[in-house]
Amino acid sequence: MKSPGIVIVGAGQSAAVAAHALREHGYRGHIAMLGREWHKPYERPPLSKAVLVAAQEPLLDVLAEEAWARSNIELLNGSDVAALDLAQQEVRLANGQTIEYEKCLVATGGEARTLLCCPPYRRRVHYIRTLDDARRLRAALQRRPQVAILGGGFLGLEIAHAALAVGASVTVLERATSLLDRFLPPEVSAWLQSNLCRAGARVLLGTSVSDAFPVETGRMLLATDAGARLEVDEVVVAIGLSPNDALARNAGLEIGPGGGVLVDANCRTSNEHVFACGDCASQQRPGQSQPTRLESWQNANEQARTAAAAMLGASPPKPPVPWFWTDQGAHNIQMLGLPADDLEYVRRGDPTNAKALWIGHRRLVPIHAVAINAGSELRALRPLFDRDQPVQLQDFHLDTLNLRAWAKQQALADAAVPR
Ligand SMILES: Cc1cc2nc3c(=O)[nH]c(=O)nc-3n(C[C@H](O)[C@H](O)[C@H](O)COP(=O)(O)OP(=O)(O)OC[C@H]3O[C@@H](n4cnc5c(N)ncnc54)[C@H](O)[C@@H]3O)c2cc1C
Repeated sequence: MKSPGIVIVGAGQSAAVAAHALREHGYRGHIAMLGREWHKPYERPPLSKAVLVAAQEPLLDVLAEEAWARSNIELLNGSDVAALDLAQQEVRLANGQTIEYEKCLVATGGEARTLLCCPPYRRRVHYIRTLDDARRLRAALQRRPQVAILGGGFLGLEIAHAALAVGASVTVLERATSLLDRFLPPEVSAWLQSNLCRAGARVLLGTSVSDAFPVETGRMLLATDAGARLEVDEVVVAIGLSPNDALARNAGLEIGPGGGVLVDANCRTSNEHVFACGDCASQQRPGQSQPTRLESWQNANEQARTAAAAMLGASPPKPPVPWFWTDQGAHNIQMLGLPADDLEYVRRGDPTNAKALWIGHRRLVPIHAVAINAGSELRALRPLFDRDQPVQLQDFHLDTLNLRAWAKQQALADAAVPR
C-alpha cells in the first residue's frame, strides 16, 4: 500500500492529538494511523479510575466524534508495525504489507513492565495498560476479591483505591521503604500511605514478591523475599513501563540514555523524516542533566502538537512546564515541574486536612510543586516556573497570604534574592 503522506505508528493518545493538530495546521495529505489494538484512540487515565468503579464505562475517545470525522484519518486497527525502513521511507507490518511515508511519527507508547513470576497470560494476574486489560480487571473486581497489588506507584495506588471502592480487600506490596519517594516530598509520601490505609488497604513496604503460583483452590500464593506468604484471588502488577522503542532501535535511530526514542526539542529523531512523541520519546528538558521520558497525559499531548507542527515546518509551541495529576480515592494530587534529589520543600496548608501545597526549590528557584486537593492554587504558581528566578518564600506558609496575588507579584518582581 502507498501512503504519500504521513504515517503514524501507534493509535493512542499522542497519535490522535498529532493527527488532529496536523489538520489544524492545514495539512491536507493522507494520514495513515497504524494501531496494534482494536480500538479507536482512547484516553488511558480513566482505566485505573472510572473504568474500574463507575456503573457505566465512561466515554474514552481522545477525539470527539466530530473532530475524529473531520480529521479524516485512515485508521488501520490490528496493524502491528514490525519494522521501520529509513532508507526506503516505509514501514512494514507484521503481515508483510509495506506503507511508504513522507514523514513518519512514532507514537508507540510503552508496555507494562512485567514480573517474571507473574506472566501476563496467567489466570488471576493483571497488568493495566489497555482498555481490554482494564475491562478484565473490572470484571474480576466485581467479585469483591482479595487483591494483591505489586507496586506502590501512582498507578498501583489508584488501582488500590478503585478496588477498595468496589468492595475488594487490598494489600499493596512495595519494594521501597516509602511510597513514591523518588517523586514526592516525604510528607506527601506519608500522606498517601495513611490515606490508603484509612481507606482500608494494607500496605507492606520494603516487600518484594519473589514467587507466585496458583494453589489448589485456584487462588494465587505469593512468596516474599522475607519468606512471608500471602494467598489472594487476584494479583495486579503495576511496576512501571518499558517504552516501545524496539522499532526505532532496530531501524538505527538514536535511543535515549534510559531508553526511548531520542528526539530534539521539535520531537525530531536522528532521522530527519521521522518524529516521535509521548511515552516512547526521550527528550532533553531544561534543568535536566540528560534526556528523559515523561509518562504523562500532558506530555503526550504537547509533544504530539510539537511533532505535528515540526513535521509541517511550522514553529512548534513553547513547551509548557510538565504537569501531572493522579486521583487517589476521593483526593486529587497534582504536580508541576519535575522532582529532583536536591530540592528543599516548603509547605502551605495541612495534609491532615487533606489540602496542602508544596514548593520544591533549589536556592529559592521553584523547580517542583505538589498539591493535595489544591489544583487551582498549583495553577496559580505556573508563572513562577517559567522564569528560572528565585522567589521569596518566607510568607508562603501563611494562611493570610493571597496566593494568586503573591505569585503574580513574585513573577513580576526582579530577582530580589541573590542566588
Ligand atoms: C492506566 C493508566 C492510567 C494513567 N493515568 C494517568 C494520569 O492519571 N495522569 C497522567 O498524566 N497520565 C496518566 N497515564 C499516562 C498517559 O495515559 C500516557 O502518558 C499516554 O497515554 C501516552 O500516550 P502515547 O500516545 O505515548 O501512548 P499510548 O496511549 O499508550 O498509545 C500507544 C499505542 O501504540 C500502539 N503500538 C505500540 N507499538 C505498536 C506497533 N509496533 N505497531 C502498531 N501499534 C503499536 C499501542 O498498542 C498503543 O495503542 C495513565 C496511563 C495508564 C496506562
